Amino acid sequence: MISHDILVIGGGLAGLTAALTADPKLSVAVISKVHPLRSHSVAAQGGINAALGNNPEGRDDSWEKHAFDTIKGSDYLADQDTAELMCEKAIPALYELEHLGVPFSRFPGAVIAQRPFGGAGFPRTCYAADRTGLVILHTLFEQSMRRQVRFYNELLVTRLVVRQGQCQGVVVCDLTTGEMIPVKARAVIFATGGYGRVYFKTTNAFINHGSGIGIAYRAGVALKDMEFVQFHPTSMIGKNILITEGARGEGGYLVNNKEQRFLADYAPKAMELAPRDIVARAIQTEIDKGNGFNDDYVHLDLRHLGEKKIKKRLPGIREICLNFGGFDPIEKPIPIQPAQHYSMGGIDVDVNCTTSVEGFFAAGECACVSVHGANRLGGNSLLDTVVFGKIAGDQATKFVRGGGNPSSSDRHLEEETIKIKEKIDTWSRRDSGIKIHLMMEKLKLAMSEKVGVFRKKEDLTEGLKIILGLKEDYGHTYLSGKNIKYSQEIVNIFEFEMMLDLAEVIIRGALNREETRGSHFRLDFKERNDKDWLKHTLVVNTENKPEISYKDVNISKYKPVERTY
Ligand SMILES: Cc1cc2nc3c(=O)[nH]c(=O)nc-3n(C[C@H](O)[C@H](O)[C@H](O)COP(=O)(O)OP(=O)(O)OC[C@H]3O[C@@H](n4cnc5c(N)ncnc54)[C@H](O)[C@@H]3O)c2cc1C
Repeated sequence: MISHDILVIGGGLAGLTAALTADPKLSVAVISKVHPLRSHSVAAQGGINAALGNNPEGRDDSWEKHAFDTIKGSDYLADQDTAELMCEKAIPALYELEHLGVPFSRFPGAVIAQRPFGGAGFPRTCYAADRTGLVILHTLFEQSMRRQVRFYNELLVTRLVVRQGQCQGVVVCDLTTGEMIPVKARAVIFATGGYGRVYFKTTNAFINHGSGIGIAYRAGVALKDMEFVQFHPTSMIGKNILITEGARGEGGYLVNNKEQRFLADYAPKAMELAPRDIVARAIQTEIDKGNGFNDDYVHLDLRHLGEKKIKKRLPGIREICLNFGGFDPIEKPIPIQPAQHYSMGGIDVDVNCTTSVEGFFAAGECACVSVHGANRLGGNSLLDTVVFGKIAGDQATKFVRGGGNPSSSDRHLEEETIKIKEKIDTWSRRDSGIKIHLMMEKLKLAMSEKVGVFRKKEDLTEGLKIILGLKEDYGHTYLSGKNIKYSQEIVNIFEFEMMLDLAEVIIRGALNREETRGSHFRLDFKERNDKDWLKHTLVVNTENKPEISYKDVNISKYKPVERTY
């Protein structure tokens, strides 16, 4: 049986950081359903936050100010001690990335360049043109090669095996053969990324089904704050490819069909650089009022920045417009609309990335340590992956070194593997039923239409009904292609079960939360209600039923006040 001390699931920034941090004397391996360099982290454009104070307009910046912006941006749902920890660790984390070889853009004097981003009091987003995720991921991957980290690619984790509250390992499907394989480990770190593809309109990669979050939920681990889904204000119409917030950071305008910079009506001080929840709502409101183009989009105008700046600072955005839109943003404005972008909620972890299962850790977008609360600030997610990826690697090392989970049971892992093999056999044996791609489309549309930027009870209830109907349909699915090697259908059938759970948990949390906070805007409860709702939502899977409870938010320094920009 394949066996390791520490098993990291996911080859994005959180996973690679955890693997590089774990003690190299232990046996450490990374499992990923795709080649690590195809993880969604590679698509991150705009940058990563740290209060370095390199921008002449940001000399007075400090990690405390970064923490305050993060907490205010979160609509006071972030745990304040955790947000402070992340912002303090941001500065050494950035220098560590620089020393590992990340080719950041530079200011004169060769210091790391920093640009303004939404919801930030100072320009503190460090970047490499508009390809920040790509260069960091490649650098960490090179370092992993140098350190001879063991990689298993194209293995899909289907189950987390837990026995008597202790993590035993995982069961994977080798996507090249369709074979089910048990993998034993003393500590498992999930760094499996977000669930963007639970929505129809999303900026996320096709691989982002969020199965890791669902697998943890099925293993009995709580999910936290799942109703908080970030909608990015600026995705290009059509395929909803992201146009980075960096485009507004560099000075881009948002304009409606009356040629007005309409943010003046919504966030008069911050304008286009208000936090994402506010800008996304402003755009959607303009479209709904008839101030959009074709009732579908508004314009992001970069033309006044000039050819030189666009080519130097936003070359990737220009390429996206040329290749996918057929126009040049130097000459024409970009048609944009909001789309799902980020998962604020996730696997419930504490500040050490530990969960309720011994030896099971989580970090990055799949986890909710609660630094983003009800709304994440741009540039804080890449930061989250490197800061908490490192903590997860350290804590898993400590756990194994301290003698945790000494004896996993091979038999138990094998029994779990057989159970999953039997599932594949059932799907294969059927010659008819409901095709998985049809169910997936229905789920995604329901989420985009009923659980979007604006929410209300009737829509959420209808959305829930669709999801519960799909849960019944799922029992009748089948494998229409009988070849199980390199089968996308197998991946979809496995992951869809998890997507259904995630959709249900998101909707139930949203239905219960009768207030408006950050990204969760209820048309029927338009005010934030700290008295009743300044708390985290926790959902646990108890005998296949979601059980909801609530937990206090850590408020240390910053008393919740009204959020204005
Ligand atoms: C287009 C775009 C641009 C962005 N730009 C920025 C930005 O500029 N700044 C910023 O701060 N944030 C940005 N974000 C957000 C940020 O990029 C992500 O939140 C972050 O990179 C997530 O990293 P991660 O390591 O948690 O997960 P990911 O990079 O998504 O990696 C997940 C890994 O898990 C593996 N995996 C998943 N499920 C399974 C399974 N069941 N079995 C095996 N393997 C599995 C995948 O193969 C993958 O390797 C952006 C996001 C998008 C979509």
